[in-house]
Amino acid sequence: MKNNCSKHKYKLYLCIIILLILVNSIFTLKLVFNYRHKKNSKKFKPAFNTTLKSNKDKNKKYVYLTFDDGPTYVVTDQILDVLKKNNVKATFFIVGKEIPEKEHILTRIHEEGHSIGLHTYSHDAKKIYSNKENFIKEMTKTQKKIEDLLGFKSKIIRCPWGIHNIYNKLGSSLINEIHKNDLKIYDWNCSLEDGLNPNLSTKRLFDNSKIVKEGYTNNVIILAHCNFNNKNTVKVLPKIIKYYKNLGYEFKPITESTPEYYIESKCNKNLNFKN
Ligand SMILES: [Zn+2]
Repeated sequence: MKNNCSKHKYKLYLCIIILLILVNSIFTLKLVFNYRHKKNSKKFKPAFNTTLKSNKDKNKKYVYLTFDDGPTYVVTDQILDVLKKNNVKATFFIVGKEIPEKEHILTRIHEEGHSIGLHTYSHDAKKIYSNKENFIKEMTKTQKKIEDLLGFKSKIIRCPWGIHNIYNKLGSSLINEIHKNDLKIYDWNCSLEDGLNPNLSTKRLFDNSKIVKEGYTNNVIILAHCNFNNKNTVKVLPKIIKYYKNLGYEFKPITESTPEYYIESKCNKNLNFKN
C-alpha cells in the first residue's frame, strides 16, 4: 500500500515537472518570437519619408496626377483638354529647355489652375548628377525661366529618374543641398511606365495606374509623361480619372504645402528607376 502511494506521488511530481518545463518552453518561445519580430520590423522599416502617409482625415483619399517632361506641342495641350473636361487639377514638372517657343503652353497650364514644378533644365543625366552645384543650377535655371514668364518662384521639384537612380552617386548630400536651397522633392508611388515605354497599350497603362506602393493608397502620386510620343497616355487619361473618382478620391495638384515624398535610401528594393 505504502509502495503504491509513493508511486502515485512520484507520478504526480513527474507530471508537475513536465508541466513546468512546458510552460517555461512556451514562455521562452514567445520571448524569442517577439524579439525576432521586433528585430525584423526594424530591419524592414520602409526607407520613405512617410509624412505623406497619414491624412488628418482618415476617410480622405487623394490622388496627385503628375506629368513630366513638358511643355510639348500637341500632347500637353491634349492632356490639358482632358483635365479641363473632367474638372481635375494636376502637376506639370517642366524641363527648362522645352520652354522657348512653347511659352503659351506653359501659360495655359498656369492659367487653368495646375501646379508647375521643376524637372531640371537639360534633362541630361550626365550634367544633372555630375555634382550638387550643377543639379541646383539645373533647377534654378528653370525656376528663373518660369518666374520671368509667370511671376512666381516654383519650389517643388521632381528629379529625373527619381531622387535615387543609377546616375546619382551623390547620395543624401544631394537631398541636403536641395533642402538648403528651399526646394521640395516629390517622387511617385504609382507609375504608368510611359516614360521609357510610351507605346504601352492603353490597357497596360490603365493597369499600371492601379498599382500603388503598399501603405500609400490614401495619397497616390501618379507618374505620367507628356512627351510628344505619349499619345496613349492622353487616350487612357479619362479612364484613369474615372477609376479614381469612382473610388472616392479627390484630385489635387502638388503645392509647396504638400508634404514631401521621396525615398531616403536606395537600399529599398522597390525603387522604380523608370522615368
Ligand atoms: Zn523626365
